[in-house]
Amino acid sequence: MINSKNRLLSLILSLVILLSPFFQTNNFVIAKDVSGNSTKPVKNIILLIGDGMGTSHVTLGRIVKGSNLHMDLMPVNSTMSTHPAFQAEKWVTDSAAAGTALATGSKTYNGYISVDTNKKPLETILEKSQKQGKSVGLVTTTRITHATPAVFASHISDRDAENQIAEQMISKGVNVLLGGGRRQFLPSSQSGKRDDNKDLIDEAKKLGYQYIETRQELNKAKSGKILGLFNMTHMDYEIDRDKYKEPSLAEMTTKAISLLSKEDKGFFLMVEGGRIDHASHANDPATTALDVIAFDDAVKVALDFAKNDKDTLVIVTADHETGGLAIGGYGIYDFKPEEFKKQKISLEKLSNILDENNYEKEIKEKLGIPLTLEESNKIKKSLKEKSIEPILNILNKNSITGWASTAHTATDVPLMAYGPGSERFSVHMDNTDVNKIMVQLFGFMKKTLKKVS
Ligand SMILES: [Zn+2]
Repeated sequence: MINSKNRLLSLILSLVILLSPFFQTNNFVIAKDVSGNSTKPVKNIILLIGDGMGTSHVTLGRIVKGSNLHMDLMPVNSTMSTHPAFQAEKWVTDSAAAGTALATGSKTYNGYISVDTNKKPLETILEKSQKQGKSVGLVTTTRITHATPAVFASHISDRDAENQIAEQMISKGVNVLLGGGRRQFLPSSQSGKRDDNKDLIDEAKKLGYQYIETRQELNKAKSGKILGLFNMTHMDYEIDRDKYKEPSLAEMTTKAISLLSKEDKGFFLMVEGGRIDHASHANDPATTALDVIAFDDAVKVALDFAKNDKDTLVIVTADHETGGLAIGGYGIYDFKPEEFKKQKISLEKLSNILDENNYEKEIKEKLGIPLTLEESNKIKKSLKEKSIEPILNILNKNSITGWASTAHTATDVPLMAYGPGSERFSVHMDNTDVNKIMVQLFGFMKKTLKKVS
């Protein structure tokens, strides 16, 4: 009697063990990551990219802010290398190849938008996310068709073909598209850049998009697919932004998260601080610093959501470094961030209003610099040649800011992470690895993950 009871009991127990894999709460196989920790797939990923933001840019932002940045306090703080696919001597990437690496996990040539070195399309993490029923969004301060957002939702071997990129992005059905670049969506008859006479804003509306152009309209948006184009070209630098007209990157990020998180299958969101790069190409330190801080405000929005949600991974990184920025220079043991407080306008905007008659007054008013006679003569001469180089030299020397280049460099960029799976980013890695780990953590590559026994 006792024996057969035991046999029955062990039969039931075996059945329970055998059937247990079928009683899991989600569709994914429970997985082990490389560190051996058991983990279930991450529901949401927010990837924030500071375009051109090297480690010195982070230092600059922190010093100018006067306290730690939000990204400084993320528990995983590492570095990432950025080179493109090797083509002869190339170490220095552009945003297209670097973005492609982050979006697809593959190296490609500079100028290529999510196509491989043979110009074959590479599936992006945004497209993989859509296939799994997740909501997806792209937010930037550049034109939405610029390289970094483009690599997530289009495929083309020429980053400058922004009109075609705009078409691909709309037809892809990305739930949230917020940034600048109206001109790529409008025909030339409406001051756009399209000579095919297409009105993509109209087409987007037909495809179910709500279309908006102002900060007020963004505030009002409640649900559904949204296309927000807040400027004809790039959005303004933070230092120049009309705070009632254009939303901040943080405000766009807040809205994107609130729209995307309404769906229960999770979301993938890319947020780009796109103009850190432009200010660094221009070697304009105060404008660079304020755009880094504005990007960090968007990081805070993502972290606040993730802390509450507990199923969201936040990754902060850059596509490459721009400018070879140095905090200090000219052989001097000092740095004077207080000089930045005097600057009221970006050098780009200032150069548009300067002429030989107003420059002394404008430079004093907008940059807080009284000029010596020698400086004044130099600037007058350069303005005739449409150059503002002497002004830049004074600005950088006053604040003791060094720049090695007006282009990108191959130096490592920061890589920070918070949330489930963040420990996977705690060592130095290549940009392609960041994509591969994101894809794994989303549970898209089931066969490479081991079952927990
Ligand atoms: Zn650049």
